[in-house]
Amino acid sequence: MKTFKPFKAAICSICLVVTYCQASAQQSYKYSVDLNNVADDQLSVELVCPEITKAEIVFYLPKIVPGTYMNSNYGKYVHNLKAFDMAGKELPVTQSGDNGWRIKKATKIYRLSYQVEDTWDAGISNMVYPMCGTSFEAGKNFVINTPGLFGYFEDMKKIPFEISFSKPAGFYAATGLRPAETSSTNDKFICENADRLYDSPIMFSLPDTTVIKVGNADVVVAVYSPRKQVTSRFIAANLNKLLQGSKDYLGGKLPVDKYAFIYYFNGEQKKLGITGAWEHSYSSFYALDEGPEKNIIENVVDITSHEFFHIITPLTISSREVKEFNFNETVLSKHLWLYEGSTEYTAHHVQVWAGLKTPEQFLETLAQKISFSRSSMKDDLSFTELSKESAGKWAQQYVNVYMKGALISACLDLYLLQLSDAQYGIKNLKHDLSIKYGKDKFFEDDELFSVIEEMTFPQVKDFFADYVAGTTPLPYEKFFALAGVDYLPSESYREFSIGGIQINPTKEGMISVGTKNMNAIGEKFGYKDGDELVSINDSLITAENIGNRLDHLYSMLKEGDLINIKVNRKNADGKAELLTLSAPAGKVEKTRKYVLRFIPNPTAAQLKIRNAWLNNHAAALPAANTADVSEIDQVIKALYDVISGPAGPRDWSRFRSLFHPDAFMAAFNAKRELRKFSPAQYAQNNGPFFLKNSFSEKEIGRKVNQFGNVAQVFTAYEFNAGTTPPMNQRGINSIELIKEKGRWFIMSITWDDESRDQAIPPVYLNK
Ligand SMILES: [Zn+2]
Repeated sequence: MKTFKPFKAAICSICLVVTYCQASAQQSYKYSVDLNNVADDQLSVELVCPEITKAEIVFYLPKIVPGTYMNSNYGKYVHNLKAFDMAGKELPVTQSGDNGWRIKKATKIYRLSYQVEDTWDAGISNMVYPMCGTSFEAGKNFVINTPGLFGYFEDMKKIPFEISFSKPAGFYAATGLRPAETSSTNDKFICENADRLYDSPIMFSLPDTTVIKVGNADVVVAVYSPRKQVTSRFIAANLNKLLQGSKDYLGGKLPVDKYAFIYYFNGEQKKLGITGAWEHSYSSFYALDEGPEKNIIENVVDITSHEFFHIITPLTISSREVKEFNFNETVLSKHLWLYEGSTEYTAHHVQVWAGLKTPEQFLETLAQKISFSRSSMKDDLSFTELSKESAGKWAQQYVNVYMKGALISACLDLYLLQLSDAQYGIKNLKHDLSIKYGKDKFFEDDELFSVIEEMTFPQVKDFFADYVAGTTPLPYEKFFALAGVDYLPSESYREFSIGGIQINPTKEGMISVGTKNMNAIGEKFGYKDGDELVSINDSLITAENIGNRLDHLYSMLKEGDLINIKVNRKNADGKAELLTLSAPAGKVEKTRKYVLRFIPNPTAAQLKIRNAWLNNHAAALPAANTADVSEIDQVIKALYDVISGPAGPRDWSRFRSLFHPDAFMAAFNAKRELRKFSPAQYAQNNGPFFLKNSFSEKEIGRKVNQFGNVAQVFTAYEFNAGTTPPMNQRGINSIELIKEKGRWFIMSITWDDESRDQAIPPVYLNK
């Protein structure tokens, strides 16, 4: 069954190729840029134009691009734009606004030429996010975010763009595009329209790339790190786990077959005002600070996870405003809670779901988002209004899309899990929306909430009305409680203190003490302003190590232990004297705000939601005995063994440990109707019977079909029950098993009894 999908997709992509080849024979933009020729930090762009039928036309560079939610005004970086006819005669051009050039006698236009400055270091009063901008470093590196170089004629965005680059020998073009032609000094790419062009960044430099295979997809990791502090090998090794986890999270397959992660680590240009990344359908581009790879990797993985999941929202699921993007007018959708918020949530959720982060780390991330959005943002602003106006009136609130936006998804996820008895969360919702819309269809902004309501539960209507469109702050205590998580707006706690002193680093890298807010413990030590810390309990202290030293000290201390702190203090003559200050270790009362914490004794309902939310099967199931689950034979033997015995209790933990968390059992009742139940329900229903009656079931025949990690077992049984009168019965258990995480799990057991008109065939009675 599964083979149909890729086959269909392959046919579609062939159709696409055919259409755009035909189109390119007729009408296309033909751009060329020579990267060997950087003059005055500018590149020259040449365009052989498509045929124009209007008498007058405007040539545009984009004002705004998808995913940025602010105006970039790329036209401001273009100089000296000229238009020529076929004979090389210049045509009259007048600039119109920041991003347009009106050209008369347009039917005669044959070619355009202009110079472009790079946005990273141009002295122009305008702001383009570095990850959406351009950087030209002759002979070293070129960051080509295409909207910064290439324009289009009005109403002519839907024809192909050919872009050709001459490049320094050996330079590699890191991009999600597949080159139409490539050599060591030239690359040519063809994009079917302006949307695809602007969706495709390219970075040129000497190559440092690593390819990882994720399911059916080739994922390229390309790195530019001028001081060689970061390598593609290291990044790829760390992304591998994330991407394999993402593949499982997305149902076993990535939605693309090629993807490029393109990283620019800045270590040779002036510090970028903002660092970050820009997402695309087949790639993402990162402008980050260079640093030792081990120090920055956690942050890189978090950002990468976020950008990668944009291929679902908004690149697959989005409204008309996104899919029919208007590059020259600012028209935004109201669903940033979905595009940025749910993406940010998924970026972290996938990591706990795939076991890359602990549930506590995940809660901490969410708590930090609550803290930021409650203390620094307008919590009662309608999120749909913020979204519509994120490039205008509410630009200052935009950053909340990564905070409260993600929390909306967290609460919606928990709410859906509750409404569905832990069967359906936001992961499933996004999956279903992806199937409904796909890459090519869009939703209307106003219809999305009702679509989700129809797909899920009527109760979500009020959720959206109150907390997303409305102004009611999210009641975190209510939603997190569904998974047995306490939300505490603030809590007090006691913590060791060395006196509540100010810790001021000195030029020499030591610590100078300030006594302004000193507490009672500080009084006991008797610090004086300007004391220089030398050691605490004989551990030497510097500005760099004080944090670790104190953490270590506090973890070892008991209240009342004596602490000795050596300080240098200037005497009346200005000479430093070494003094030892001593006081017993003591704690002070502190408060922290916005805490999320797992409660230790959740109810069964809370635990069910918690385990589904965190993909926490290990906690939901008792640990299995390796000797029961390493081989299929062991599982079958354990299954018979665990339910058999004299009247009395059974080891239901062992019983349940044989099953996958999603397993079911089913059997026919006396009326030949199928009854379905979970292993836990089986234990509940049959436990009382076994307590009173001896019961022994043994295997009398077996047939196994196995392929790789899947197996089916037909095992014929015979049982004897010590009832009055005694019961004896034969039949067949049909068992489906899968192998995961190095062990076998029972996925299902269904059985039917032997009867007069239904004898067990001899073939199933062979052992
Ligand atoms: Zn984003």
